[in-house]
Amino acid sequence: MLILECPYCGVKGEETEFAGGGEAHLKRFGPGSSDDEFHGYLFSKVNPKGVHFERWRHAHGCGKWFHAARDTITLEVYGTYPAQTTEPPKDIKDKISAKRPGWSWREFA
Ligand SMILES: [Zn+2]
Repeated sequence: MLILECPYCGVKGEETEFAGGGEAHLKRFGPGSSDDEFHGYLFSKVNPKGVHFERWRHAHGCGKWFHAARDTITLEVYGTYPAQTTEPPKDIKDKISAKRPGWSWREFA
């Protein structure tokens, strides 16, 4: 069971309280970008075994979007933080490093 905590209202609940929104920290490529960049934005998603960063929405609560850092093997949640954050917070990255030394996910490590 996946237990998430909304970083806005502090409610902790099962994943059914929330709605998944796919991969976090996607870089959007708009007008003027190459076909490869736009194709990558639309279709190139990672599906790692281990550390992963996802978007979630507190669907049955405040309705706000946030990011969650979690492990896809153990379902451990390393932390949640506001969706407007462009990079995982240092305390969450440190927590991941303590559990999974040498981890990386896209450009983050
Ligand atoms: Zn909330």
